[in-house]
Amino acid sequence: MMEQTKTYLSKTVDQLKPSGIRRFFDLAAGMEGVISLGVGEPDFVTSWSVREAAILSLEQGYTSYTANAGLLELREEISQYMYKYFGVQYSPKTEIIVTVGGSQALDISLRAIIDPGDEVIVVEPSFVSYAPLVTLAGGTPIHVQSLKENDFKIMPFQIEAAISDRTKAIMICSPNNPTGTMLSKSDLEEIGRIAEKYDLLIISDEIYAELSYDEEFTSMAAIPEMRKRTLLISGFSKGFAMTGWRLGFVCAPEELSAAMLKIHQYTMMCAPTMAQYAAIEALRNGRNDVEEMKKSYRRRRNYFVQSLNEIGLDCHIPGGAFYAFPSIESTGLTSEQFAEQLLIKEKVAVVPGNVFGESGEGHVRCSYASSMEHLQEAIKRIKRFLNSL
Ligand code: PLP
Repeated sequence: MMEQTKTYLSKTVDQLKPSGIRRFFDLAAGMEGVISLGVGEPDFVTSWSVREAAILSLEQGYTSYTANAGLLELREEISQYMYKYFGVQYSPKTEIIVTVGGSQALDISLRAIIDPGDEVIVVEPSFVSYAPLVTLAGGTPIHVQSLKENDFKIMPFQIEAAISDRTKAIMICSPNNPTGTMLSKSDLEEIGRIAEKYDLLIISDEIYAELSYDEEFTSMAAIPEMRKRTLLISGFSKGFAMTGWRLGFVCAPEELSAAMLKIHQYTMMCAPTMAQYAAIEALRNGRNDVEEMKKSYRRRRNYFVQSLNEIGLDCHIPGGAFYAFPSIESTGLTSEQFAEQLLIKEKVAVVPGNVFGESGEGHVRCSYASSMEHLQEAIKRIKRFLNSL
């Protein structure tokens, strides 16, 4: 008989499933000639002046820790940027923390507010890390499903129906990963009214704020009375094409920021110094490049989403981010089967919708942050794949 070995792992971690996106990356990595629409990152290299600023910081020998919350100079730039472009005002000294990506901002925002057993409403389909981060913080994610028939816009009554005595916060993301759906000002106002009625916090992931194509983006914190309830997550990865720099930030009222800063100082000390110098340059002189990238994504979105619909994959028009989330229900395949067979037969990598939550089933996520040639070739291959079924 096999000896029973003791597991040293935390039960919470042991029961956590690895990200479903990884499996497809690993599958695709071993193949040649794959067109990947799987990765959620810009295909642009970070602007040269931004890279140069990091190089200069190294030449000048700026290699030590910064203040825990980040270089004050950077926080001042973030404060001005948030006011100028999104109409929200945060004090650089007490209400902004520079983090290691939006990812860490999400983590500290949840850990700062959750006690064991607290519930957090997670609107899905959602970015893969939301529910696991709630669990790791000791909370319970309560899933609320946005639906295809509403172009994946969450209906406020659905949120209200999920609220219990244990609810602490509502997590939203607009423009959304994986659906590209944007919440309008009036959608945010309605969600805000619910937060107010039940005295809840809102974790508003606004990391794709720069990438809205049809409507003007509205920040949750810009909705009257919402600033005091909002932990605003953002960063440089998407809009400024800086995924590898690992730089994000979180803005929140002083009491919440002070709580997050405690976690940040004990676990991270500070975000990478050279990346912070790069970000100062991105905010000071990077706007034109952001606008150019945005124009390019919009062109590609228009082509790609129209083409998906033409070849028979029903897809709503995503108002922001760089994802198309077509329905593959007409094929009769599950999203896993579709993604796996498309990869094996036609070497196009997409992400099955179920990895973003149950309501993502029947869909796949395609990132159109890929060259026009790749997108055209991908459409050709997907069409051939559909014909072969
Ligand atoms: N939030 C959303 C919705 C995302 O899609 C991502 C990355 O894909 C992140 C946060 C984290 O981004 P980063 O840690 O690179 O800033």
